[in-house]
Amino acid sequence: LTAYLNGRFAPLGDLSVPVLDRGFLFGDGIYEMIPVYNRTPFRLNEHLGRLAASLASVRIGNPHTLAEWRGIIETIVARQPFDDQSIYLQVTRGAAYPRNHAFPPEPTTPTVFAFADPLTPPPTQLVQTGIAAVTQADVRWLRCDIKAISLLANVLARQSAVDAGVAETVLLRDGKLIEGSASNIFVVKDGVILAPPPSNLMLTGITYDLVLELADRHGLPHQVRDITEAELRGAGEVWLTSSSKEVLAIVTLDGAPVGNGAPGPIYKAMYQHYQVFKAGVMRT
Ligand code: PLP
Repeated sequence: LTAYLNGRFAPLGDLSVPVLDRGFLFGDGIYEMIPVYNRTPFRLNEHLGRLAASLASVRIGNPHTLAEWRGIIETIVARQPFDDQSIYLQVTRGAAYPRNHAFPPEPTTPTVFAFADPLTPPPTQLVQTGIAAVTQADVRWLRCDIKAISLLANVLARQSAVDAGVAETVLLRDGKLIEGSASNIFVVKDGVILAPPPSNLMLTGITYDLVLELADRHGLPHQVRDITEAELRGAGEVWLTSSSKEVLAIVTLDGAPVGNGAPGPIYKAMYQHYQVFKAGVMRT
C-alpha cells in the first residue's frame, strides 16, 4: 500500500516519524478523511477547504497548494490495488526540541502524511435494518469545529459504543444534541429534517452539508436549529452521517426504539438521493 510522507511515496510499513513530532507528543495537528469511489475523490474541494480551515485555526501554515494536494491524492489513489478508498491526510506542526507546549521559536517543517485504506460503504443489510446507538455527555473541548488529531474524548466515546455493543455514541451538551463520536446526527420531527446548527461545539461534516444540500434540491422540508434531548428521544427518525458511513438510520437509542424501530420513509428517500448523487459524480 503506497503512502506519502513529507514529499516521498513509499510502502506504508516503511514510513515512520520522529518521536519528537508534536503530533506524537501533543496531538498538535489536524487531519482529513476523503472517500474515493471508483478512484474518484468525493467532494474533494470541500474536504481540502476544511483541511485549510483546520490548519488556519491551529496556526499551522498550509504546506501545499490546492494543486499539490490534488497531486498527492491522485498519486495515492492511482497506486492502490482497490477502487474504493478512504484517503487519510494528516498535518502536524512537525518535530521540535526541547519539548515545550508553546510553538517552537524556530518555525518547524510540518509533517505531512497520507495513506489509503480500502473503503467499504455500509452493506445493504445495515441500510435496511439501521443501527443502534447510545447517548453520553459531551466532555470534549470548545473547539470541536477543528478536525484536530487530539481525539482522546472521541476515542473514549466510541469505545463506550463498542462496550455497549452498538455502533455509535451520540453526544449531548447542556440538554442539546451535538453530534456523534465520529459522525453528525440528524433528527426527523413531524416530517421535518432537523440538523443541529454548525458551531464551535461540533464538526460540520462534509456529508452533513451534502445531506442538507440534497434536502434542498429534492424539496424535503428541513431546518437547521438547536435540537433538545427530548426532541432527540421523541424523534420519528434519527440519522447518522459521515464520509465512511454515508447516511445510516439509528433505530435504537439507549435501548429504546426510535419511532417504530425501523428506518423511516424520509431516511429511505435521503439514502436514495445520496446514492444517485454519488453515482453521478463517479468516474465510469
Ligand atoms: N463529527 C465528527 C466528530 C467526526 O469525526 C466526523 C467524521 O469522522 C464527522 C462529524 C462527519 O464528518 P464528514 O461527513 O466530513 O466525514
